[in-house]
Amino acid sequence: MPVPCVRVPTEDGEATRRRLADADLVDGDHTITGEDGFLYIPVTDPAAVPGDLAVVDFDAPERRTQTNPADILGFEPSYERLGDVVIVDEDDPERAQRIADAIVQSDVRARTVVNRASKIKGTERVRDWDVLAGESTESSEARRGLEDEQGESSSTETVHREYGCEFELDIAEVYFSPRLATERHRVVEQVDAGEQAFDMFAGVGPYAVPMAAAGADVVATDINERAIHYLRRNAERNGVADRVTAIAGDVRDLAGDYENWADRVVMNLPHTAEEFLDTAVALAGDDCVLHLYDIQHEDDPYGPAEAAIREAAEPAYDVTVETHRSVRSYAPHELNVVVDARLTRR
Ligand code: SAM
Repeated sequence: MPVPCVRVPTEDGEATRRRLADADLVDGDHTITGEDGFLYIPVTDPAAVPGDLAVVDFDAPERRTQTNPADILGFEPSYERLGDVVIVDEDDPERAQRIADAIVQSDVRARTVVNRASKIKGTERVRDWDVLAGESTESSEARRGLEDEQGESSSTETVHREYGCEFELDIAEVYFSPRLATERHRVVEQVDAGEQAFDMFAGVGPYAVPMAAAGADVVATDINERAIHYLRRNAERNGVADRVTAIAGDVRDLAGDYENWADRVVMNLPHTAEEFLDTAVALAGDDCVLHLYDIQHEDDPYGPAEAAIREAAEPAYDVTVETHRSVRSYAPHELNVVVDARLTRR
């Protein structure tokens, strides 16, 4: 049945919805609907709507179920979620903004909506973000400076939950990918209580913290001081601070204190991890499993990593590849892979 709705061009939709919401005029019993470039916002009292807005009768569906962004946009947008931050990946800034507005108008839980503004870059593997909706519409980079001065929490900071652990992180300051959750869990499931595990490129701790929760004593290093800041908080948050030693710096400079120490070494720095194999072998105890991540062409995804491990570890160790698997597709014909290799001292 038609109900009174404010009809606005889609691009004005979010601003208008906010105006109407501020005046307590949005009819929550009917769904905001997009059609032919216009948004129809159901209103409770058409007479109270400001005169510059057009009110029409429109067959807005009753709100029996949740409103999805697709109901508003007329197409299914792609996005992923990290805690209460929603991430879109759009080249066209106008399309990105439309999607962000629809996410905010929908019932999707979102404190902030961001768009990828750069590739993952630099040693710390962090990317830039455009904040499209949420507490701030400034670029996250600009905002970060402000926050550091004021000590406030950032619009790009969130808490992500994964296999029973919680990870606090700021996507503008550290690397994090929720897509690796299954792979991380696969590694953590191999951990025995009491073992000594070294995470060379630890980030905010998505391997280190659950390995400690599984009973390992963990040393975790990262060159990004902010990652180590969050890793320490995450170890506290998950009740394993007593089993996690987190150290900021280049792992090559820190490994000296842990030579012959590790039963397990995690090397999650695809593209360059092989350059760190000498360090990994120095860390390895008499019997140690290496988890080496790599990105390779699909024609020979595991050969280069296995050859590099053998070159670094033999003849001091026997090398047995226990598993290799593709973690995910990285680019056309390129795979992100992992090789689990056991090093046994001869
Ligand atoms: N393992 C984490 C995860 O799964 O989220 C982070 C992986 S991220 C791909 C690689 C990490 O290695 C980044 O946090 C980066 O700062 C760190 N890194 C790069 N070079 C390093 C070095 N020489 N020593 C220690 N950490 C380094």
